[in-house]
Amino acid sequence: MTKKPALIASDLEGVFVPEIWVAVAEKTGIEQLRLTTREIPDYNQLMQGRLALLREHGLTLRDIQDVIDTIAPLPGARAFLDELRSHSQVVILSDTFYEFAMPLMRQLGLPTLFCHSLLVDERGMITSYRLRQPDGKTEAVRAFKALGFRVLAMGDSYNDTGMLGEAETGVLFHAPANVIAEFPQFLVIDDYATLRSTVDAFLAVE
Ligand SMILES: [Mg+2]
Repeated sequence: MTKKPALIASDLEGVFVPEIWVAVAEKTGIEQLRLTTREIPDYNQLMQGRLALLREHGLTLRDIQDVIDTIAPLPGARAFLDELRSHSQVVILSDTFYEFAMPLMRQLGLPTLFCHSLLVDERGMITSYRLRQPDGKTEAVRAFKALGFRVLAMGDSYNDTGMLGEAETGVLFHAPANVIAEFPQFLVIDDYATLRSTVDAFLAVE
């Protein structure tokens, strides 16, 4: 009897790369762009606010992409991810957008990414966004299980807690205290070495 195959599902921002919108806030000086799903759990409310701020300041998709081009992955992220992918299937599940993420994904060695898409007008202004599906992280983990995988999921924010709950093992990585306090059922890890040993233990289970 061989082992059931395992798959690692991971969030992107806060786990492998910095928060993209926080970096955009720093570069543009628009302080309100600092808010993330850590502070505003309602994703649509958060995104509508961000798009209104970009319109107000006349920032195009190209302007934001220029900022994102200056972001590097978190220290040690690429080495950790390369190592993980060398002995396990890894899929990144993110609430960011392909139009934002691709420069960062190149720096991470182009792992598989499931995320959302932006709608852009003829002037290059971001008018709206299209979710791949509602609650896409949780639905992806549910689908991986239906495909016959055991799943370990990891993430740092409110928008990850659905997939962490759906997975066999859920890990809060680099999570803020308020998220940890609200979701005591998940493992809490703050460094790649511990994450690595937790993943190894998960992969070793029959
Ligand atoms: Mg995150």
